[in-house]
Amino acid sequence: MSKERHVIVGGGLAGAKAAEALRAEGHEGEIVLIGAEDELPYERPPLSKDYLRGESSRDDARVHPEGFYEEQEIELRIATSVTAIDPGAREVELDGGERLGWDRLLLATGSEPRRLPLPGADLDGVHHLRDLGDSDAISARLEPGARLVVVGAGWIGSEVAASARQKGAEVEVVERAPRPLEHVLGAEASDFYAAVHREHGVVLRTGAALERFEGTGRVEGVLLGDGTRIDCDAVVVGVGIVPRTGLAEEAGLEVENGVVTDERLATSAEGVFACGDVANAHHPFYGRRLRVEHWANALHQPEVAARAMLGKEASYDRVPYFFSDQYDVGMEYAGYATEWDRIAFRGDPGGGEFIAFWLRDGRVVAGMNVNVWDVTDPIQELIRSRKRVDADRLVDPGVPLERLLERSDG
Ligand SMILES: Cc1cc2nc3c(=O)[nH]c(=O)nc-3n(C[C@H](O)[C@H](O)[C@H](O)COP(=O)(O)OP(=O)(O)OC[C@H]3O[C@@H](n4cnc5c(N)ncnc54)[C@H](O)[C@@H]3O)c2cc1C
Repeated sequence: MSKERHVIVGGGLAGAKAAEALRAEGHEGEIVLIGAEDELPYERPPLSKDYLRGESSRDDARVHPEGFYEEQEIELRIATSVTAIDPGAREVELDGGERLGWDRLLLATGSEPRRLPLPGADLDGVHHLRDLGDSDAISARLEPGARLVVVGAGWIGSEVAASARQKGAEVEVVERAPRPLEHVLGAEASDFYAAVHREHGVVLRTGAALERFEGTGRVEGVLLGDGTRIDCDAVVVGVGIVPRTGLAEEAGLEVENGVVTDERLATSAEGVFACGDVANAHHPFYGRRLRVEHWANALHQPEVAARAMLGKEASYDRVPYFFSDQYDVGMEYAGYATEWDRIAFRGDPGGGEFIAFWLRDGRVVAGMNVNVWDVTDPIQELIRSRKRVDADRLVDPGVPLERLLERSDG
């Protein structure tokens, strides 16, 4: 019976699910879960949605109820940072100087917001959104009539803009690209989101370059490259994230756009694994490495990491999946599309309920269902099949998605 000690660095969703999975997979030795935040592990999606709007509580966001860790004999050390990992000595160093030995180590350090190196970025009232405290601070600014500038119309920027409008704030979004979310969705599908935000009263300034944040002590406005000044009471910067790879880099692990792992989520150092936002993992279905910075990946990868840590058969090959909620528009996206030759719509985006398919050589590489539910499984099957589909049937809402593979011609 194994009485080994397994240490998890990072008390977010991935870390907490890994601790749970180690027990569920039969590990009987010690599990130490170390998290820098002074919070029980929690999920982040509500931070730009219901929690930000004051519609759900801190407790609602918890990964597990408080008693879970004790019941499962998981030693949870919060408000504790790991300052170094030593794969040779099989030890981690904690911020108080304590050194803790391990038999297997899991890095679940997640990611942090990218910062803009622009004048005024340190002014009070310029926010980023990653943790509960950030969400509280932004929430306090969302009074009716408050003027909010959101920099970056990616998922987080778009969700913050929506929540802020729902709270009655005046919102201007500054985005460098021609459309919100264009780098993920392409022009046609991102036009849908641009229209939704405009209908809800957001001023969208696309193709706009931010030059500086202005104000004395507190932010009072932002200046764009074309000389436009937007007065505001607060700014939320949502321009992407960077994986927290510092510990891994300093320890000499292979790091490239995240901590590099194989499909078992094993890193280049013996006994060290990585999962969640920080892992750039070889994906057997795509035959390449993917770093997925979404909730479902942080939810599911830990089980595979735990199995691998226990020496069991393990391979992570789920089709990437994420969701977003903005106003009354709920969506799910499955797949991974960097190149496509066509986007096909089943249903009319103008009507607010549709599925968009990204096609390459007649094959579905990604699908996004908007206010249409229970279609993720067949969409993922289409992607996994790699079969050519009949485009007319694909866009015909009368043909169940499950039937499309029956007449495909490979
Ligand atoms: C506001 C917001 C909204 C989101 N909404 C969605 C959504 O709608 N749909 C979706 O699919 N995804 C969403 N995401 C993304 C999703 O939340 C992330 O993919 C997920 O949180 C990743 O989990 P993780 O555990 O890998 O990393 P994290 O959640 O970043 O957790 C890592 C933890 O490790 C800790 N840590 C780091 N370094 C150390 C150290 N040295 N010592 C100790 N602890 C350390 C950090 O403090 C942190 O608590 C959202 C993210 C944010 C920020």
